[in-house]
Amino acid sequence: MADPKGFLTHGREVATSRPVGERVKDWNEVYVPGSLLPIISKQASRCMDCGIPFCHNGCPLGNLIPEWNDYAYREDWTEASERLHATNNFPEFTGRLCPAPCESACVLGINQSPVTIKNVEVSIIDKAWDSGTVRPQAPERLSGKTVAVIGSGPAGLAAAQQLTRAGHTVAVYERADRVGGLLRYGIPEFKMEKRHINRRIEQMRAEGTRFRTGVEIGRDLTATDLRKRYDAVVIAAGATTARDLPAPGRELKGVHQAMEYLPLSNKVQEGDYVTSPISAEGKHVVVIGGGDTGADCVGTAHRQGAASVTQLEIMPRPNDERHPVSQPWPTFPILYKVTSAHEEGGERIYSASTTHFEGDEDGNVQWLHLAEVEFVDGKLTQKPGTERKIPAQLITLAMGFTGTDQQNGLVEQFGLELDQRGNIARDAEFQTNVPGVFVAGDAGRGQSLIVWAIAEGRSAARGVDRYLTGASDLPAPICPT
Ligand code: SF4
Repeated sequence: MADPKGFLTHGREVATSRPVGERVKDWNEVYVPGSLLPIISKQASRCMDCGIPFCHNGCPLGNLIPEWNDYAYREDWTEASERLHATNNFPEFTGRLCPAPCESACVLGINQSPVTIKNVEVSIIDKAWDSGTVRPQAPERLSGKTVAVIGSGPAGLAAAQQLTRAGHTVAVYERADRVGGLLRYGIPEFKMEKRHINRRIEQMRAEGTRFRTGVEIGRDLTATDLRKRYDAVVIAAGATTARDLPAPGRELKGVHQAMEYLPLSNKVQEGDYVTSPISAEGKHVVVIGGGDTGADCVGTAHRQGAASVTQLEIMPRPNDERHPVSQPWPTFPILYKVTSAHEEGGERIYSASTTHFEGDEDGNVQWLHLAEVEFVDGKLTQKPGTERKIPAQLITLAMGFTGTDQQNGLVEQFGLELDQRGNIARDAEFQTNVPGVFVAGDAGRGQSLIVWAIAEGRSAARGVDRYLTGASDLPAPICPT
């Protein structure tokens, strides 16, 4: 156990953010570099090493949180990193991007602030990278079996790394021009700098994983091509079909899906453009959707020099007295999450529904019309007399995703069955209805958290390993059924 009195002696402290006025002028991560390490031993000491560590069960990866809290408290970074990697291929991603369901589950949260598990995690892995202890782990022998992984987001990368280390020859196919999927082009630099992805890819290459970018399976290579070349296939292509808003005026110029807007901004950071072809500079920006992707649009718009940024959320603000929400432990303020982007300015409007978009004579959007909504008999209903309009010269739609992309023929060519929600159906081993074809991540689960994607990739890898060899020592943290 860490310090038995740690939770009595120390309060919760988190990473220090750079001042808003400074950080909105650049794209670097928002935290003060090096601000965590001096406080992390004390923070880890707050862990009570619970007999039943609810944090462990709260994490889809089953992270060994009390164990690495203890090592972090003792500043034994090598052991801490080993325990961290025992359940998680990419803790530098989850330590930056995961909303930390483990902290919501932390027992200390019953009557104090929970342990800063996410900050401890990111400190351990950053220290491990800095000290050179994160090294390639190439397999000692090859199985002679080959696997194609479709998609290089967190699920695909996790599956690929697990299978490569198990001795299989793995090729990852990515339709974009660079590896990383949503991590690369969906997540802004200020949340996670791309250097974290790049060094993991280098580690994976050194272990033997091969990467093929600019290849879309279903279009550039058919399912038949892939089945001929590989003994097994893992589909980790994400849930990339974005939910749309078919309101009048949707066709106006300046109304974009978030996943049209964010990737172009990320391509500026990659050096592909000097300025983004879809820029918020000088514009009144409205972001429709109150989740993490919406917050990413807010932070991006601020950095691009928007005149104003407004974010709309159709649901009521929790704890709004008109819509009381009871939040017993474990607490998780899903709808009122204050991200770093929200600290940087802008307005958030709750219980707001877009009625239509209004443009000028050139077809450019200029106004967004909205109305207040309320629950009537369990249904969100527009309140009469609440209509108004707000200026909007750039609108991003960040309302989630509805399933895997079926435009490229991938589902049809493989002959895959879908489940009731439109995701690719699979069994307890993550295998689809087609023997030897597996699915992991959002393509099978539906849109979810990065920690679930990594857990899915690890579990699917076990299913593939068993399919190829008849047995597997790989861990399977979750089961889809
Ligand atoms: Fe430590 Fe919280 Fe997990 Fe208990 S639930 S072991 S206090 S991190």
